[in-house]
Amino acid sequence: MIKFCDVSKVYDTGKHAVTGLNLNIKDGEFFVLIGPSGCGKTTTLKMINRLIPLTTGYIYVKDKPITEYNIQQLRWNMGYVLQQIALFPNMTVEENIRTVPEMKKWSKDKMKDRVTELLESVDLDAKNYRHRKISELSGGEQQRVGVLRAFAADPDIILMDEPFSALDPISRQNLQEDVAKMHKKWNKTIVFVTHDMQEAMSLGERIALMEKGKIVQVGTPYEIINHPKNDFVRQFLESGNIETAEDQTIQQLIDEKYFSSIESPESTEQMNIVLSPEDSVNELIVALSKETSVFIENRQTQSFWKITNKEVMAYLAANIESRGDAR
Ligand code: ADP
Ligand code: MG
Repeated sequence: MIKFCDVSKVYDTGKHAVTGLNLNIKDGEFFVLIGPSGCGKTTTLKMINRLIPLTTGYIYVKDKPITEYNIQQLRWNMGYVLQQIALFPNMTVEENIRTVPEMKKWSKDKMKDRVTELLESVDLDAKNYRHRKISELSGGEQQRVGVLRAFAADPDIILMDEPFSALDPISRQNLQEDVAKMHKKWNKTIVFVTHDMQEAMSLGERIALMEKGKIVQVGTPYEIINHPKNDFVRQFLESGNIETAEDQTIQQLIDEKYFSSIESPESTEQMNIVLSPEDSVNELIVALSKETSVFIENRQTQSFWKITNKEVMAYLAANIESRGDAR
């Protein structure tokens, strides 16, 4: 879907922001670019929709170099979400969401239905929300509208540049769940930039870790956690405190009562992934990057605990706090 071939970017200042980048982002993949500030994540993302021209190399979208696309068509096919909310504050939620469909000259009915569908997909009451002014919404609600707007015209690709870093932890977690849900529902190719390892691990199907304009390692969360390529990756994992997840088993979450809902075996048809209490928290994180919920078997009662990202994130967050205290 998106292919980088030996891509480099040197800014006019002489700064080598990105060097010799090779990447293959698959159709429908949730792909995360992560790395410390200044490592070239935003530059990489903006080269995809041609907001920044490359210095050397090629980027292909669906096997065609991006330079061969009509720029408007290229961008219409790519939703874009930024950290700072770029909505029109005096317009309503509906007016904001339908900006791209309007440019694409969709019919009024089609746009209206689409706005309803989008709002409902994240459990917002369409009747209530569609006519609200952006300026009357909380930061978290505004960013949620920003995400919906990116999906509005049904683009194949969604680019997200640290979309949730300015939010409080609860809104952030909710938005992460929404995006995971929307990715699963509409099967878009998502390129998501973050500097937060937990965010990367909980959302990404594959993760590319960058340092000083180069890719250090690409892999699934599981591969990166279990086979960090070098000290830089190891340190980065430690900064996100993720390394603890590999030594911990799901039993710990059970002991600390992070699971609430118990499902009976009758609902087995929705149970795509079933793990056992002896499996590691890591495996759980990986499983939750593929499914919105995972089931843990409770052998004593012959039932299942249902777990979502929310519980795992709460557990990881609590873990960081307690480890922080210990230091
Ligand atoms: P990240 O998003 O990972 O923080 P960026 O892609 O924004 O990194 O920046 C990569 C490097 O390129 C940084 O050193 C940054 O200062 C530099 N840079 C970014 N934009 C420009 C620009 N327009 N002109 C010159 N240097 C830039
Ligand atoms: Mg950036």
